[in-house]
Amino acid sequence: NGVIGILGGGQLGRMLATAAAEIGLKTHILCPDDHAPAYDVSSAHTVAGYLDEYALAKFAKSVDVITYEFENVPVEAVEFLNNLGAVVRPGAKALETAQDRLVEKEFARGIGAETAAFHPVDDLDSLKAGLEKVSRPAILKTRRLGYDGKGQTRITTQDSDLSGAYEKAIEFAWDEVGAAPSILEGFVPFTREISIIGARGENGEIKLYDPAENVHKGGILRTSSVPAAVSEATAEKARAVTRKMLEALDYVGVIGVEFFVLENGDVIVNEYAPRVHNSGHWTEDGCAVSQFEQHIRAVAGWPLGDPARHSDAVMENLIGDDVKSWRALAGEPQTCVHLYGKREARPGRKMGHVTRITKKS
Ligand code: ATP
Ligand code: MG
Ligand code: MG
Repeated sequence: NGVIGILGGGQLGRMLATAAAEIGLKTHILCPDDHAPAYDVSSAHTVAGYLDEYALAKFAKSVDVITYEFENVPVEAVEFLNNLGAVVRPGAKALETAQDRLVEKEFARGIGAETAAFHPVDDLDSLKAGLEKVSRPAILKTRRLGYDGKGQTRITTQDSDLSGAYEKAIEFAWDEVGAAPSILEGFVPFTREISIIGARGENGEIKLYDPAENVHKGGILRTSSVPAAVSEATAEKARAVTRKMLEALDYVGVIGVEFFVLENGDVIVNEYAPRVHNSGHWTEDGCAVSQFEQHIRAVAGWPLGDPARHSDAVMENLIGDDVKSWRALAGEPQTCVHLYGKREARPGRKMGHVTRITKKS
């Protein structure tokens, strides 16, 4: 496999393309944007919509295998490519399951993993019924298209006897999220959040990176640190769920699985991303083989690389104007600066990240 086609041209595509180049592979990006971070570093790119059949067909002919860096690529695009005989990794099932929080939660339960209590919400009545079912506080989320905490709202009202306040909370939630099909989740009283970046190869071999501990601010990932302050038993529980997911989805590529850790050390699955994941960026500087190279290896049918960690690491996202301090950061010891080449630093936009590495503890 010499040319990897990538659907999506954001920073994840950029880092995948760079990793591919380092192991002698070319990349061809397909993305609807005129300017996208991945174009700067890929061998070729096509500006086209994901449902542009002519462009997809041409793209498919120009590559040996196709992957994606964006979990909202329409499943129809993947099916269209499959019908042309193109291989898309990970496959449609992994993509489809991840795109709908309700289907995703049912899938997680189906493989024996724990999730938050949940209830599908399609109108005010089902929201009320959901509030009866899941413990409060609760979070109402859109089933589709949410990211960085967008499309979700917390319902904190505790007492349903205060019917006025209760109605208000429900209506507020409904207004915020809109009429889109939603899911109500019980709030998980987690002590920390961790994620596992895992990979499954063409031959079914699985390699997992160490769990990272994640801190979010305003719904956006702020830092990911390794080692995570969790017991070996907790880490193993998260690894076991990740392995089961990879197998159940007949997955090829890198996955990012987010977990809540409870006081007693149990893990609850939050969601998974069928792609390389922000909480795995530390692997670039903390491991011999990064999540990006690992993903490229998997989809290209290479043996997977060693995910062992040679350093402790703290990855911090540079969001919006944070990026202005790049010059000072670049001069700090043991600090690896990564910038995505985005032209405009809008608030909440991921512009780059820094990883500070120290001797493995
Ligand atoms: P991402 O950018 O990770 O894709 P997202 O928009 O899909 O984010 P979630 O991961 O579902 O959103 O939620 C974002 C954050 O909100 C979580 O990492 C966690 O901190 C908090 N959160 C979400 N759901 C729950 C829950 N059921 N209980 C407690 N906290 C939650
Ligand atoms: Mg998400
Ligand atoms: Mg998340």
